[in-house]
Amino acid sequence: MSIFDFAAGTDPAQTESVATCSRKACRSEASWQLLWNNPKIHTPERRKIWLACADHRDWLEDYLQTRGLWKQTVPLEDRGASGAPEQDS
Ligand SMILES: [Zn+2]
Repeated sequence: MSIFDFAAGTDPAQTESVATCSRKACRSEASWQLLWNNPKIHTPERRKIWLACADHRDWLEDYLQTRGLWKQTVPLEDRGASGAPEQDS
């Protein structure tokens, strides 16, 4: 499965293989990953990851920073260096 397979089809199941922005209702391809941690429910070394497109990176960063959860924002190309990304919504 490659990104070219996705580009050629409209099967919703294939969206699972593409990094999509975590912003609600946004279906843009993500180019950033926002690393965050909620000290109330996560161990300190735990990192949750939200994916963000260029348009929503600032919005999502601000959302996390406001709540004291934000840790780091890194380009999506760097994923894989520290294992598979963990994503939730
Ligand atoms: Zn977006």
